[in-house]
Amino acid sequence: MLSRRIAPLLLIVASASAMAQYAPPVMRWNQPRKPFRIVDNVYYVGTNELASYLITTPEGHILVDSGFRATVPQIRANLRTLGFKMEDVKILLSTHAHYDHAGGLAELKRLTHATLYASKADAEALARGGRADFAFNDRFAFEPVTADRIAGDGDKITLGGVTLVAHLTPGHTKGATTWALGDTVIVASTTAPGYRLVHNPKYPGIVTDFETTFQKLRALPVKVYLGGHASAFNLDEKAAGRASFVDPQGYRDYLDRSERAIREAVARQQSGK
Ligand SMILES: [Zn+2]
Repeated sequence: MLSRRIAPLLLIVASASAMAQYAPPVMRWNQPRKPFRIVDNVYYVGTNELASYLITTPEGHILVDSGFRATVPQIRANLRTLGFKMEDVKILLSTHAHYDHAGGLAELKRLTHATLYASKADAEALARGGRADFAFNDRFAFEPVTADRIAGDGDKITLGGVTLVAHLTPGHTKGATTWALGDTVIVASTTAPGYRLVHNPKYPGIVTDFETTFQKLRALPVKVYLGGHASAFNLDEKAAGRASFVDPQGYRDYLDRSERAIREAVARQQSGK
């Protein structure tokens, strides 16, 4: 009896450790989170850490960011929980072409037949499935996906009377795009995780791009700021009602922190440390 109970357990342990070797360590970012309405027609439909946003309109919906490929079933379930349908998603947007935010876009396109918009530089990265990335090379490849339309800086995308404005905010990727819905903004990541910032032959303009990006982000009239990573904008506290999503000061603090981190990294690399 005992051995019959232990055997399946051992099997589970063995397959879990085999999986752990292949699964990226960041799968801890793929835990479910209860979907909820953030403000007006903007809903959180992502994971514990990787944000996906649903913006609803009377003529269909806009979905921003996919998380990993493995996140898509959660997004689908989250839409259902909120009473929305996947097939009503008409537009797909991306904040930046990394596998933890864009890895599921190809699958989302199959499920929704929606029109995918991306900036020119990120459309190229999406088409390569994240391969030949200037920072990560092929390390974080994902299923390639073709953008249907290119969004330029300041371009407006309108559906059902709802308009989003694309603000190109490169640095984290060459085509990172911040999406603004009035004074609610979904900010593309502004970090440089392990990036070579000084004399980077694969991205010579990276520091200038970051500087321009921070100037641009500071100029936006922001009340509610959202981002790609829940931990970057205090989502746990805000979702629990212990902090407000209306948080212009939090936005300024976020930009200050991010800009300081980039400047410190540049200084470190310039001094050869
Ligand atoms: Zn990223």
